[in-house]
Amino acid sequence: VEVHVCMGTAGVASGGHEVMEALEAEFTKRGLKNAESKERNCAAKQTGCRGLCARDVLIDVYIPGKDPVTYEHVNAEMVPTIVEEHIVGGNIVEKWAAKADYFQFYDKQKRYVLADCGRVDPESLEDYIKLGGYEAIKKALTMTPEQVIDEVKKSGLRGRGGGGFPTGLKWTFCRNSPGDHKYLICNADEGDPGAFMDRSIIEGNPHAVIEGMLIAGYAIGCDEGYIYCRAEYPLAIVRVIKAIKDAEAAGILGEKVFGTDFHFKLKLKEGAGAFVCGEETALIASIEGERGMPRPRPPFPAVKGLWQKPSNVNNVETFANLPAILLNGSEWYANIGTEKSKGTKIFALSGKVKSTGLVEVPMGITVRELIYDVGGGIPKKRKFKAVQLGGPSGGCLTPDHLETPIDYDSLIAAGAMMGSGGVVVMDETNCMVNVAHFFLTFTQRESCGKCIPCRIGTKTMLDILTRIITGQGREEDIDLLLEVGNDIKTASLCGLGQTAPNPVLTTVKYFRHEYEAHIRNKKCPARECAE
Ligand code: SF4
Repeated sequence: VEVHVCMGTAGVASGGHEVMEALEAEFTKRGLKNAESKERNCAAKQTGCRGLCARDVLIDVYIPGKDPVTYEHVNAEMVPTIVEEHIVGGNIVEKWAAKADYFQFYDKQKRYVLADCGRVDPESLEDYIKLGGYEAIKKALTMTPEQVIDEVKKSGLRGRGGGGFPTGLKWTFCRNSPGDHKYLICNADEGDPGAFMDRSIIEGNPHAVIEGMLIAGYAIGCDEGYIYCRAEYPLAIVRVIKAIKDAEAAGILGEKVFGTDFHFKLKLKEGAGAFVCGEETALIASIEGERGMPRPRPPFPAVKGLWQKPSNVNNVETFANLPAILLNGSEWYANIGTEKSKGTKIFALSGKVKSTGLVEVPMGITVRELIYDVGGGIPKKRKFKAVQLGGPSGGCLTPDHLETPIDYDSLIAAGAMMGSGGVVVMDETNCMVNVAHFFLTFTQRESCGKCIPCRIGTKTMLDILTRIITGQGREEDIDLLLEVGNDIKTASLCGLGQTAPNPVLTTVKYFRHEYEAHIRNKKCPARECAE
């Protein structure tokens, strides 16, 4: 008997350690720990996030020969009853067991990247190997690097960090750059408000990211790698450091990976909390010990990157996709998703939606399916008003966009973007001017200040928005917002500035009447400002 306990950040914050301790104590007390018979031998196992963070602590009870049973909102006091009635007595404790709405959350999901998050012990290399881990890199090592790149190209995988650039093609640039020492970098500097996809992957299955990096490192010809993880993710950092050490001790990282001539060293670098360091040239500057500021391109990192050497940067989710692509083949992967957006995408679903959490859905699923079928719809019988896709760089979509397929190109055509995967749902009580103000406040604070359009422009826009929401707006303010916003997009150096005005521009486009109401009536038509 195995009991899996969610010990991602949300699980730990909700009392995961106490539940683990209560299970261990109960098993010991009843002589179920290390018992000789398989039916009686019970163990508690820590796992990562399984998605429905709002219902932590989640546990799954696995009894041989029976379907697993999930319990929600578990605390230490509930443990003796679950052990007594279910594990010993064979009767599910129905009042605490997950109900239909829990399973509805997973119905339309396709969990390939997250398949083992919630199953594998993230701090155990043995457990990862037991579930088939590191078989993909072993397979890759029997192929030539060009064959590996070709397989990734044929899969259609595109970068999951936001840009959506074809991964195999990006690798080719770095592989073809002259130089005998190349770097591979994993961008785990996830800083968008409401986004926690990369954190959950690393916390739940760090070896999958390392395996993905090994595959990429071998294909590109890199012998050294960095995982650049924001310091605000302490649990992810602890787990990735342990995973690196365990993999080194097992001959999976370092000299002669799996006894071959491929060498790959991997280090962790903690970011200091600047959102702009998610931009790859700023990230590279930060690893070098410089202030994290974007650099003009060209030269691109594939030519002159870290320490002036050819470098390739991919995001956590991109790397975590690779083991399944290598094991199942590019054709399998290319059959998931849409014509131009293959595979699945992980989203952090938050805001005014019944089931908030981490979801992995096939590309091409509609906005309606994501919000209503996976997320369970809007609570309190309120009306859906808008959804902010793509975090502070993204845009707002409205009820008119509910049938829009979620893929790179359809979202851009609709005025939003995939971004890294933050999804914030708004209902009829939300003020869209406030929403725009919230996101712009974030990007304005995070502007590194290197170029004037972004540094001064975002401050100017924020001042205008502030006077609008405080009842001091002027007639000309909306047009001024559009003019300054478009100038910032055109003239800024990096992606932060080029996308910062998006939340304002899209809310003006779809909710101009709310801006006008604030200016003319000195009040907001939504309930939020009044409250
Ligand atoms: Fe810095 Fe903004 Fe310029 Fe990017 S656009 S370099 S964040 S000032």
